[in-house]
Amino acid sequence: MSNPELKGRKVTVVGLARSGIAAARLCAREGAKVTVTDRRPAAELAPAVAALGPEVRRRLGGHDLADFEQADLVVVSPGVPLANPELRAARARGVTIWGEIELGWRFLPPGTPVVGVTGTNGKSTTTALVGALLSRDRRTFTGGNLGTPLCEHVLSGAPADAVVVELSSFQLEGIDRFRARVAAILNVTPDHLDRYPDVEAYAAAKARLFARQEPGDAAIANARDDRAMAMAGASRGERYTFGFGPAAPGAARMEEGEPGPGGAAIWIAPNGGAPERYLLRNRALRGRHNRENAMAALLCARLVGVPGAAAQAGLDAFPGLPHRLELVSERNGVEWVNDSKATNVDSTYVGLAAFPASTPRVVLIMGGHGKRAPYAPLAPLFAGRVKALLTIGEDAPAIERELGGLAPTESCGTLAGAARRAAALVGPGDVVLLSPACSSYDQFANYEERGEAFRRLAREHA
Ligand code: ADP
Repeated sequence: MSNPELKGRKVTVVGLARSGIAAARLCAREGAKVTVTDRRPAAELAPAVAALGPEVRRRLGGHDLADFEQADLVVVSPGVPLANPELRAARARGVTIWGEIELGWRFLPPGTPVVGVTGTNGKSTTTALVGALLSRDRRTFTGGNLGTPLCEHVLSGAPADAVVVELSSFQLEGIDRFRARVAAILNVTPDHLDRYPDVEAYAAAKARLFARQEPGDAAIANARDDRAMAMAGASRGERYTFGFGPAAPGAARMEEGEPGPGGAAIWIAPNGGAPERYLLRNRALRGRHNRENAMAALLCARLVGVPGAAAQAGLDAFPGLPHRLELVSERNGVEWVNDSKATNVDSTYVGLAAFPASTPRVVLIMGGHGKRAPYAPLAPLFAGRVKALLTIGEDAPAIERELGGLAPTESCGTLAGAARRAAALVGPGDVVLLSPACSSYDQFANYEERGEAFRRLAREHA
């Protein structure tokens, strides 16, 4: 790979969120003639747009076709669909179109090993975990769709011996030569159908991650997911699988039985070597879904050469990501767990399922702005798990209608009210779980703000 020669070239950057701004700054630094454009007016854009140098031309509040058709290169932010009429026109004229990830990748020092992680669910957790494992023994940049955009890393000049990037389907639409030494696909379920005509088109975007791989690279896929397996099948690299699918030679798998309290063991066999056993005993990674994430992450780390002992140490020390089954307080034997990121029923399902079904110990807080999906799929998880259901927000009546008969249920209105009631209901061994299955917009700015509020309440009541 080599740095693209951008000096004097006309580059248009479309979409001015954090990654677009980083792309524009990088191209400007390289001496390109940069135009930035966004449909949103300047007032709605981050102050960082105003802070771009005077040499960067702005076309805000709309697009000019000429900026696209006459460019040498158009760099697209993940938020901008490639089906945009201006982008289509540029493509029809043979203009090169790259996503921000492609641009950033071309500036990585040759030979930098890249790990790419994609999937419908679990991308951020797995990417952060791979980054944590690699960081045990090398300077690692972890980012992409999560946290820092790749172009921002390149601009920073920070040395990195390895790069781990989370890749959304939108980002993968815009790759061309981007090549991951190790690529992992966690799962593919219908999502973003507002932007893709069908799940096949969405899957096709994700499949691009594997298309550029070469012999010697590694493609990792979830064995129980046919679409993920088919995608990894397109790779010319070596294939690895993980998960709860059928046992297969070389597949990462969970060991039957629990080696210790809350623990389990993972077997992997990277690089054709003898099977290796790792203990998964970290509470930040509870739940079956996180076992899959941990299997994938361990494979990624070992395949780029992280020593086994460092991988185990990294697995044990991983703090988890905020708002995803995050333990925010533990006092008097009561755990307060913030799963505010669970904004739909599927996420609440995996969150609730992460707690044992032996005795009803979970005081579950659900509700918010509903997505019109039925809540009934959660019903089978209530028996033996849910001690009480506390509802909040707009969709409380629907939740109570569908699940209210399965556990003592109270309508609490607000998160503060629910936390107060939860504190009164719990005793040692119990868990207060905020896993709303709804978005937060009726009462909060976003799921992060809701999670922060829960964190404060948990400390108050613990
Ligand atoms: P993403 O970045 O893909 O949104 P996250 O790691 O942020 O993924 O997890 C988001 C939510 O998805 C979690 O709160 C959890 O409910 C669910 N989740 C995480 N990992 C998995 C998985 N491997 N399979 C299914 N669901 C998962």
